[in-house]
Amino acid sequence: MAAIIEIENLSKQYRGGTKALNDVSLTIEEGEIIALLGPNGAGKTTLISIICGLVVPTGGAVRVGGHDIATDWRAARRLIGLVPQEIALEPFETVMNSVRFTRGLYGEGSDDAWIGQVLRSLALWDKRDTPTKELSGGMKRRVLIAKALAHRPKVLFLDEPTAGVDVALRREMWQVVEQLRRDGVTIILTTHYLEEAEEMADRIGVIDRGRLLLIKPTAELMGEFGKKTLTIELD
Ligand code: ATP
Repeated sequence: MAAIIEIENLSKQYRGGTKALNDVSLTIEEGEIIALLGPNGAGKTTLISIICGLVVPTGGAVRVGGHDIATDWRAARRLIGLVPQEIALEPFETVMNSVRFTRGLYGEGSDDAWIGQVLRSLALWDKRDTPTKELSGGMKRRVLIAKALAHRPKVLFLDEPTAGVDVALRREMWQVVEQLRRDGVTIILTTHYLEEAEEMADRIGVIDRGRLLLIKPTAELMGEFGKKTLTIELD
């Protein structure tokens, strides 16, 4: 497997003093699903935002598909799709148009065959002509994912995909991630829940106070710690 994301000694100190990331290094292989687990304020969103080029780091380097985000940001950004925490959709647009719109933002020409494939994979095809405001919460989250995949990225970031959702919807999101895995997408997701990380990820990274405390294959980590210990530590 080839490395798709290489993070070296990454740090971020926000103005006003918060050291949100402290010397984080991590390599992610193509096709992997990585869960970044950590409590509020641990630095998960900051890490994702830096890789996506939305926040400028104060130290270290990130390469996506070999492209350095500091010098070759556009090429790096094309390889990435980001599903943000907040649901922000165009309420009066249909699902199809909403996804087409995002593809246009990347300067990509129309490719309805690809968008159709994405919508089918996310079980949204039957809703393609429905305005997004008429969709359920779970469907809206799927549309956000479809939008993030619109320009055919290699890597998908899911920032707390199940924050504030009920158990049924959380399970639905797990199934969506499983489908994306079958489609060969590399996924990095953040979560507060160990069971969620265990359910979906090949490797789990634990972040706390800006530091990547550990990153290990899921089975190995679960074997070493057991659910209870790790949950208590993070609480
Ligand atoms: P959550 O699980 O609540 O989303 P997180 O792990 O994603 O948390 P971050 O949002 O990356 O954590 O925040 C890490 C630290 O950086 C926190 O102390 C936060 O208050 C601080 N922080 C985040 N964004 C900014 C900003 N724009 N300016 C100043 N400090 C910030």
